[in-house]
Amino acid sequence: MDKDLLTDLINEVNSMATEEIKIMEVCGTHTQMIAKLGLKTLLASKIKLLSGPGCPVCVTEEKYIDWAIEVLNGFNVTVATFGDLMRVRGIRGSLLEEKGKGKDVRIIYSPLDLIEMAEKNRGKQIVFLGVGFETTAPIIALAIKTTSERGIDNLYFLTSIKLMPPILHYILKESQNQIHGFICPGHVATIKGADYFKFINREYHVPAAVCGFEAIDIVAGIYYLVKQITQKKEEAFQNLYKRCVSFQGNTTANLLIGEVFNILEGEWRGIGNIQNSSLEINEKYARFDARKVFVVERQQVKASMGCDCKDILLGKKTPQECKLFKEGCNPMNPHGPCMVSTEGACAIAYRYGEEV
Ligand code: SF4
Repeated sequence: MDKDLLTDLINEVNSMATEEIKIMEVCGTHTQMIAKLGLKTLLASKIKLLSGPGCPVCVTEEKYIDWAIEVLNGFNVTVATFGDLMRVRGIRGSLLEEKGKGKDVRIIYSPLDLIEMAEKNRGKQIVFLGVGFETTAPIIALAIKTTSERGIDNLYFLTSIKLMPPILHYILKESQNQIHGFICPGHVATIKGADYFKFINREYHVPAAVCGFEAIDIVAGIYYLVKQITQKKEEAFQNLYKRCVSFQGNTTANLLIGEVFNILEGEWRGIGNIQNSSLEINEKYARFDARKVFVVERQQVKASMGCDCKDILLGKKTPQECKLFKEGCNPMNPHGPCMVSTEGACAIAYRYGEEV
């Protein structure tokens, strides 16, 4: 890391900020890095960095966890999941609690491990909980396609895969120009291409930059945005992560997504339904869709009482503004998903002890 360059850039940013500037970092990995660097303490107080909706566990609807528990209660079922989902609560509790009751819940690190698990446990019904964004979609699609090609008949997928542009449209409309710039997630753009986020500037005239995840990537992104904002530039969109992100994205990954999923309305935790914001397994692969294969209750559930995750995901509040933060909600006793996931704004604020 070139500390002198970082310091120079931060000083430049601070000298440009003569009025309040709000910038949203859409992605939880960016939020984590910003906190780790202590960037908020280095930037002028006029620059507010807001965390956005890019933590997959945080935006996963409560009823999804209830569906997972419902599926887990089926005959001879093993549920496989990434670790972050274990402690997220639905109305019926969490997968961790179910595991404590003796249910078969296993943590895996790659969806492709599932193939081996299913082949070695033919007598079991394995259900994978596939949660994520455009970044995770290709690997889940590949796992579903491989399951089909290998004739595996005991592996199913309960997915909740969200798409970024619809929630950003929602935020941009709701914020009514109160968010002045966007740091766009570099890993989503790696799959979908830099052009995927250009609408932020083209349709809303808000500056945006695709950024990587190193300290210099983020600081360069903030520098670029603050410069465009203070100079009131109309055309302000940049791909600052060209070493990984092309204009059109990853063709192979997008073909896989297109082969396995349809785009449908999606439910976002605490926010509600947003049109065209979710990927669901299509008819061709419907026999692997746990929602269709297992009888699950599609009940409507209420958001966790007192949890302000919705406002935090939309950049309207900081974790510290939630009255449950720390004493009522902490990583040992999480009340909402933003405190569970390592990419959740509340968990990051708790860990690093600064405003995020
Ligand atoms: Fe929800 Fe806990 Fe964050 Fe409050 S501190 S918004 S209850 S996750």
